[in-house]
Amino acid sequence: MKAVVKTEAGLDHMVYMDIPEPEATGDLVKIKIAYSGICGTDLHAFKGNYGSTKPPVVLGHEFSGIVVDVGPEVKKIKIGDRVTSETTFKTCGVCPMCKSKDYNLCGHRQGLGTQINGSMAEYLVSREESVHVLPDNVSLLSASLTEPLACGVHSVIEKGQVQPGDVCVVFGAGAIGQMVSQVAKSQGATVIVAGLPQDKERFKLALAAGADRCVDQMEEDIKAVVMEMTNDVGADKCFECSGAVPALNKALEIVRRKGTVVQMGVFNNTHESIWTDLILHREIVYVGSRSQKPSSWVTALKLMEEGTVVPEKIATYLTPLENWREGFEKMMAGEVTKGIIVLDDTLK
Ligand SMILES: [Zn+2]
Ligand SMILES: [Zn+2]
Repeated sequence: MKAVVKTEAGLDHMVYMDIPEPEATGDLVKIKIAYSGICGTDLHAFKGNYGSTKPPVVLGHEFSGIVVDVGPEVKKIKIGDRVTSETTFKTCGVCPMCKSKDYNLCGHRQGLGTQINGSMAEYLVSREESVHVLPDNVSLLSASLTEPLACGVHSVIEKGQVQPGDVCVVFGAGAIGQMVSQVAKSQGATVIVAGLPQDKERFKLALAAGADRCVDQMEEDIKAVVMEMTNDVGADKCFECSGAVPALNKALEIVRRKGTVVQMGVFNNTHESIWTDLILHREIVYVGSRSQKPSSWVTALKLMEEGTVVPEKIATYLTPLENWREGFEKMMAGEVTKGIIVLDDTLK
């Protein structure tokens, strides 16, 4: 089968090539891939600066498809099921994080598309526990974005505990910022997306998907906007999805007393200069949100089934697998919000 393989560490070393099809042994489910999203993580893997990627490996961890075979230990998933899958392939199963199904925090976790062959290929195998059958009304295209949506659910609902009426500020208008914005809207929040001049197209996507206001921070002062909208109280919840330290400090500055700031963005350095006295004196809840976990997937699929969140609205660029390089280049240039690799769009 055809696949896009990161063959060795370092810049590029990515090849469109033939590899053997994986087999559905044990508890594994073999999936024919319909769509595979291009994630920021894949771009980091391309650049060779993502330590978790263990070449040689097929990239891609955001996908949907149809089950074509199941291993002898598979109990519920059936051939023909329309599915997506969590990215968790292996965990230790015994640590406290595994016991509470916080698989995103298991120190021995192995994931699809980083350590185990992922979805930029015609077929993939995933363990049954990670596979989710799609509601009938959810398209395979939207379903391929369940993973970034689940990251948004984890951040907004499980970490941020957003309530109806909350004023939320989302820093960053990329794919994750868009998912956070859509999930916050689905919870009845007022959502302001803060970005930069190059986010013009992304602002349009966010507004079309329900965001209340977008702020180009080179043109407008986000603090003034938020204070005006909240009678000088400040935002209830802020989400840092840009990976820029100034955005995090701005979030700390505009969140209300006892408000919550959730960090999803990855910064360039492991140690950064953060406005800590605000955290102390205003009793700000500053919390990290790392990827997603099983409960996030259940909620993400429910939101899609209800139609309150429609991830495919951000899928603005679709391209076939052999054209993967152009997709990566367009994503790296910031020309498209979310690129999707099409493996088989005849699947329904
Ligand atoms: Zn991703
Ligand atoms: Zn564990």
